[in-house]
Amino acid sequence: MGKSLLDKVWDAHTVRELPAGQTQLFIGLHLIHEVTSPQAFQMLREQGLKVAFPDRTIATVDHIIPTDTEARPFADEQAEGMMSAIERNCREFGIRFLDRSSGQQGIVHVIGPELGLTQPGITIACGDSHTSTHGAFGAVAFGIGTSQVRDVLASQCLALQRPKVRRIIVDGTLAAGVYAKDVILHIIRSLGVKGGVGLAYEYGGGVFDRMTMEERMTVCNMSIEGGARCGYVNPDQRTFDYLRGREFVPKGDAFERGVAWWRSMASDDDAAYLDVVRLDGSRIAPTVTWGINPGQAIGVDERIPTPDSFSADDREVAEDAYGYMDLKPGAPIKGTRIDVAFIGSCTNGRLSDLREAAKVAKLGKVKPHVKALVVPGSQAVAKAAEAEGLPEIFKAAGFEWRLPGCSMCLAMNPDKLSGRQVCASSSNRNFKGRQGSPSGRTLLMSPAMVAAAAIEGAVADVREMLKALKAGC
Ligand code: SF4
Repeated sequence: MGKSLLDKVWDAHTVRELPAGQTQLFIGLHLIHEVTSPQAFQMLREQGLKVAFPDRTIATVDHIIPTDTEARPFADEQAEGMMSAIERNCREFGIRFLDRSSGQQGIVHVIGPELGLTQPGITIACGDSHTSTHGAFGAVAFGIGTSQVRDVLASQCLALQRPKVRRIIVDGTLAAGVYAKDVILHIIRSLGVKGGVGLAYEYGGGVFDRMTMEERMTVCNMSIEGGARCGYVNPDQRTFDYLRGREFVPKGDAFERGVAWWRSMASDDDAAYLDVVRLDGSRIAPTVTWGINPGQAIGVDERIPTPDSFSADDREVAEDAYGYMDLKPGAPIKGTRIDVAFIGSCTNGRLSDLREAAKVAKLGKVKPHVKALVVPGSQAVAKAAEAEGLPEIFKAAGFEWRLPGCSMCLAMNPDKLSGRQVCASSSNRNFKGRQGSPSGRTLLMSPAMVAAAAIEGAVADVREMLKALKAGC
């Protein structure tokens, strides 16, 4: 029996098996940001420890950074405190800090791949749940908590349980207007938000084979929302083509040797899996969440499920969602009025996301009652988008074009919902209060669907708008 990529990477990074059944795993790359690192550095100081591998540690600022100004100090004192702390910590412990002056700042899961830090066959950790993003390259990547950030800083190791692997095959052809975001929302809807607990998701099949690296990142990013510990796609020629020439990627002969090793880390044809799930990509519609977790999702042309369609456990969560979202069972999701449209985040704040949204933005104007934001995932994304004239398209349609950061994904900066506002969002979590207002409501969807909702002032079917585009209307 062959081995999966997860098992190969795990074995290659095992320092030792621990008595409690966990593995002490070496971490190839540690990405840090301003929110989950200050206490970790403080713990190092208190114990008189150094950072074990500063050259395997890279810092950026993303969660708290304002997107409407570069001015310092930040108006929010707590945010300014976190910024000052990461500046001081990086200086003191010899860590490269990618702040705005570097030209390489951005959301931690956007800049890792952009710079070529994220590579196949390595282990990656970061104090953010959506570290699973990096699995798009065939890395095994975990989101960790603050005490684990301390552990990695001090030892470059983590004590972890080896996950079992579920292979998820999506074949068929995606229809026009159906994107990577719809695929992962459909997977989570099908397998549940707890379906992946204790597992790694390996994505395979024609739909993933044909996806760009940015699309694969969108899928892997949300593995965690399906309960999986991590998610990955086996590295292939698309992966190597994406990596070639990036700052941290080996050059010349070393690149060719890297490709040979990266290829060898892909799952064997006869790898053993816990199970294999098959889904038909041609049946996936543009997908929208209606509830308070990413599994409460439906096709845009479907109606909000009725209580009798749920198991007893799920019915309780559904009842909670109906009340919180103020949506009626059996009502269509299409036409649900929105107040805010947010395009950005580590799920969908990359250049290809902005390009797809801009195609839709060209078709109309943001409705007057909607506040619409476009927040690029990084300074590099912003620069590339500006070179293509995307900000002008968005601004002409009535969107605000902002500076890079996490923005309204988690709303730790000034970009927040207020009161009961409803937000069409390209981010990854629709939990209660996620976007800054304790009673704010989030509808997750693809960036193109967010642009369509901004123009209609309500949830819309982007396929209909794209048809009009094709017909030249
Ligand atoms: S965009 Fe959202 S999920 Fe991604 S790193 Fe920022 S806060 Fe976390």
